Amino acid sequence: MLYDTHMHTIPFSTDSGMVFSEVKKKQKELGIGLVLTEHMDYGFPPFSFDPHKYFETYGPYRSETLLLGVETGFTVSAREMNRSLVRSHPFDMVIGSVHAVGGLDLYEDGCFDQFTDKEDAFCAYLETIIENIRDYEDFDTLGHMDYICRIAPYPDPLLRYCEYSDFIDTILRILAGREQSLEINTRLFADARAVAALEEICRRFKDLGGRTVTVGSDAHRPEVIGNHLQTAYDLARTCGLTPVYYKERKLHPAIQ
Ligand SMILES: [Zn+2]
Ligand SMILES: [Zn+2]
Repeated sequence: MLYDTHMHTIPFSTDSGMVFSEVKKKQKELGIGLVLTEHMDYGFPPFSFDPHKYFETYGPYRSETLLLGVETGFTVSAREMNRSLVRSHPFDMVIGSVHAVGGLDLYEDGCFDQFTDKEDAFCAYLETIIENIRDYEDFDTLGHMDYICRIAPYPDPLLRYCEYSDFIDTILRILAGREQSLEINTRLFADARAVAALEEICRRFKDLGGRTVTVGSDAHRPEVIGNHLQTAYDLARTCGLTPVYYKERKLHPAIQ
């Protein structure tokens, strides 16, 4: 079964536009497994939730194909809170994601004013990922490494391996060394160039000893759940990587 391992629901993720009943309906239509991964971005007040309420609300629906995860927003100051969150609650899967650079959310107005150009912004973003994962391992998969490409206000916003190979290698080596997964986030999959750029990064992950990927749509609306899932699974296999999901923080191959 294919698994979409990244999505957000209201009321737990405040930027989402879908409720649980819509998720269940869409899941039935598609016949796929799902992992809910609500936002917990400490230090960015709207993006947090009460984990007790989360498990109380969705716990009764938890099953082999409906798993309860979290997307922890990485900042150095949130590190201990993230650690304590994921150690004290029974999440199935933990995504680690960088959404902020230099203390500002990348979506915040003026965030990119702190950078002189694309190179400056992308280096700062990749350095932030490294800074956050180098000494911190309490996550299963690194979320959307190409997140900055969604927002970057430059004519060519893609993250190309050849342009940032040192930073990207450092990140991939850390993940491979700990047998953590890299996420293939399908948000940008409508753009063939973005897919090609990500494929190059996945190939390099394999070269450096990486073995597993998670695949997620990052859906905030029901109509995009499962988007490009098959394409992403095919990409993983082409690169020699195994698509997986996590249940009770343990890795399971998502069998097709
Ligand atoms: Zn995210
Ligand atoms: Zn997300």
